[in-house]
Amino acid sequence: MRTEEFRKAAYQVVDWMAWYMDNVSTLPVKAEVKPGDILSRLQDSAPEEGEPFDSIFREFLDVVLPGMTHWQSPSFFAYFPANSSPPSVIAEMITATLAAQCMIWETSPAATEMEQRVMEWLRDSMGLPSLFEGVIQDTASTATLAALLSARERVTGFRSNESGMQGLPPLRVYCSGQTHSSIEKAVKIAGYGRENLVKTELKSDLSIDPQSLAHLIEADIGLGYLPAAVVATLGTTGTTAIDPIREVGEVCRRHGLWFHVDAALAGTALLLPELRHIADGIEMADSFVFNPHKWMFTNFDCSAYFVKDADHLIKTFEILPEYLKTRTRGEVNDYRDWGVPLGRRFRALKLWMVIKSYGVDGLRAKIRHHISLASWLADQIVEAADFELFAPPLLNTVCFRYTPSGYSPIQLDDLNRRLNHALNDTGQIYLTHTVAGGRYTLRMVTSQTNVELEHVSSAWNLIREMAAAISQKRK
Ligand SMILES: *Cc1c(COP(=O)(O)O)cnc(C)c1O
Repeated sequence: MRTEEFRKAAYQVVDWMAWYMDNVSTLPVKAEVKPGDILSRLQDSAPEEGEPFDSIFREFLDVVLPGMTHWQSPSFFAYFPANSSPPSVIAEMITATLAAQCMIWETSPAATEMEQRVMEWLRDSMGLPSLFEGVIQDTASTATLAALLSARERVTGFRSNESGMQGLPPLRVYCSGQTHSSIEKAVKIAGYGRENLVKTELKSDLSIDPQSLAHLIEADIGLGYLPAAVVATLGTTGTTAIDPIREVGEVCRRHGLWFHVDAALAGTALLLPELRHIADGIEMADSFVFNPHKWMFTNFDCSAYFVKDADHLIKTFEILPEYLKTRTRGEVNDYRDWGVPLGRRFRALKLWMVIKSYGVDGLRAKIRHHISLASWLADQIVEAADFELFAPPLLNTVCFRYTPSGYSPIQLDDLNRRLNHALNDTGQIYLTHTVAGGRYTLRMVTSQTNVELEHVSSAWNLIREMAAAISQKRK
């Protein structure tokens, strides 16, 4: 493709992008295709001859787009937000054009220094301790892996980096049963072994019970295990439960354990001074992660990872011998040594453009609005006769069940499951479920970038209509 063709094609695509942003709400939220539908429409073997862009783009629109689920639809209430926004999209275009590898300062000084600066912006606007230093990771899963590798090296005095885990007592990691699956994955990859991930008891709000945590650790010490780390969650994916950071931190401090806080989904809420109390005690954490690529209008991937001791992080990951170290303390950061991958995209640019475009105040206004939509929905559920709210939502996630009378608990699980599928099959909204209090529970996350009251209220009307229709049909 010559530059002139690129210019023409790219203008055409930008026009389509703007159309998509304005019209995504009219498309079926969840892709209406069956397994194999798209595969069967993609040619069997790679084309020998190149095609003009027009025909490639037409095929994208006809074949590919119908197989996409529209995460940027304001009626997307499923899983978690994976937000985008116009300034973030523009930044991604620039990043793709520069296509720079930003692994060390030398290979793109501006990318390194902008990353350092935007991470300071985030830290300070979220009220995180000024001691924390930040680095962008691709995902929270990678950040949590970095945390558990750092914990492993701390508890073994860097011995496992040098000579492996042989001969060491089993290292233990603690979390709750509501913790994200990425913790279990990291425990497997980092060599702890899944058997050494210990789940604490829960309080009724599904948060960690710190007393149970303390007992488990003490019992393990008695049995000859080597406790290494605790992972607490600020806003679990299932129900946005908030683990008690200060109390968990005190247990960690007492036993010298690494304390990692996973706030992937809900961390953005710390931009709001009125919600900072949920992170009370955060200065006790060794590491903290949240995803601007979830609730902060920044395209995937962009995960903000903060650590108290950057030197320890670097020592865990650095691959250069002492005499080749490029990090002159206080001079430059070489982010290659702050995580798993060597190569790095210029991700700071989209964060910088998003923060500058909205302003921190603009971000706060949007997040407050999303939280107010969740409480509006919760109010409707409380008032509705045949529905039950799991718990008043503190943030952006509302968990509820359809509970008409005359059904056994198991029948209600089935009814809610069928309601969930029927709603998603309409293409008008998309929501997913969790299990809360042992029951199949519907879950709506009201924090897509452009969600407004009209979207939440039409969703609620649809839910009530379909619920009535489904229970009618059965009778
Ligand atoms: C989404 C989520 C993760 C995983 O995030 P990735 O960036 O996709 O790895 C981890 N923890 C919590 C609490 C989450 O909500």
